[in-house]
Amino acid sequence: MAQYKCISCGKVIESDNPCACDVCGYNMFEMPYNRSDILRGEISKFLLALRLTKDEPIPVSYYRTVLKIQDGKDIEETVQKEKDDKRFPSIAEIQKYVCSAEKIEVFCERLERSLEQINKHIHTPYKQNYKGDTSVSADKIETFDTTLNNALQKLDINVEPAEVVLPEIKLDYNETPDSVLINYADELLSLLDDLVIKVKKFIKQNNIYGTAYQKKHSTETKLKENEGWPDLFERIIKDVKTALNKNYVVDIFSDGSDELDDMLKTVWKGTGILLNAPVLSAKHSYLIGSTVADELSFGEAFVNFGHSR
Ligand SMILES: [Zn+2]
Repeated sequence: MAQYKCISCGKVIESDNPCACDVCGYNMFEMPYNRSDILRGEISKFLLALRLTKDEPIPVSYYRTVLKIQDGKDIEETVQKEKDDKRFPSIAEIQKYVCSAEKIEVFCERLERSLEQINKHIHTPYKQNYKGDTSVSADKIETFDTTLNNALQKLDINVEPAEVVLPEIKLDYNETPDSVLINYADELLSLLDDLVIKVKKFIKQNNIYGTAYQKKHSTETKLKENEGWPDLFERIIKDVKTALNKNYVVDIFSDGSDELDDMLKTVWKGTGILLNAPVLSAKHSYLIGSTVADELSFGEAFVNFGHSR
């Protein structure tokens, strides 16, 4: 067994492995050692961990500016990319709106109109140019720099760390209908239209009243292991076809809400996947300084910019 000594309080124990001091919790190191060498080593490990890595580039937010006329004057307005990303309502918002209808006819109308809007949305390519805002990162780097300079001074190390200059970043952002998924989406949309017609007929024929239609069924679409989006579309298309072919009969003891439930469950699952799946596939093209990069090479290009200066 070797002797280990606490770097802080100096307690010594016998041990086979590096361990922590049971008195103060600091690391214990194998004896004999030079305390200041170890402290320097620990500090440089800490500082190295602050370096940019390509897997975890520092945060950048994206924005664009639009000119607006207010009180007869041109003013520049900033629009964040997050806002553009939410230009179409989420499935949760759509469901909330559709299910809050106080009459079943209104419910069906809203559902049909929402499917129409989704259809239009997923077929519409989208393009926008953004500028990258690195001010959050710059502030963070400044705090790190202060820490670093203080540490270097205390350790008597004569190095002046170079000032970090962040690159100018531009983002060319594109969304286009995915060539494979759009076909699945089209098939599903047309089946869902039929299913909504079936729901309407069912309600009329069976004189269904009440508010069973307001129930918020799950719109989640979870991929199973080894399953891709096309597989999931196929699974849901099969469910919708089953609901379309099923003969829903209401017996005299029931109010039809179970049958309605069964159909609406499928309607919502199908509507959900249309917005949850990447039917509109996003492509990012970055310009970092003068280097072109995509989603995969962004981190590397960003870090290389920093290190090449
Ligand atoms: Zn100790």
